[in-house]
Amino acid sequence: MKPEDEDRYARGMARLMLATDKKLTEARIDLYWERLKDVPIEIFEEAIPILIDQVATFPRVPIIRRACDEAERRRQYRAARYLPDPDREGAFCSVCEDTGWKRGRMWVELYGKEVDCVSPCACRKGNPVWRAKLGAATNAVKPEGRFAGRPLFD
Ligand SMILES: [Zn+2]
Repeated sequence: MKPEDEDRYARGMARLMLATDKKLTEARIDLYWERLKDVPIEIFEEAIPILIDQVATFPRVPIIRRACDEAERRRQYRAARYLPDPDREGAFCSVCEDTGWKRGRMWVELYGKEVDCVSPCACRKGNPVWRAKLGAATNAVKPEGRFAGRPLFD
């Protein structure tokens, strides 16, 4: 969580307080922030409904951390199964729509005209949906001979 995420953090804490009927002091809210600030805000927000479903009293830091781990696992599971993320409509990458290939046009001397072409999309390294598809494809096609054991893609 970054300083600009404080509002979203405060909203999450407010929902937890509402759900557990507990009012935290400013000092404790600050203390929780101090101990949880390494958690990405999206993960923290996704942990809130998990906590609301699972705890009866206001959770201490280790319990919130465990829920954040659970939120992270759910996120990876969704990406791996290509399930749509309810927080985000559409593809992870709008340029390639998670195919990993960006459409374009290129001049081909031989034909004397421009043709459609594709090139690797810049999102590849950070796109969890594409990487999950890649994982499935890599498992489906096993390189043999001198390529055995080598990754098929970067
Ligand atoms: Zn892309």
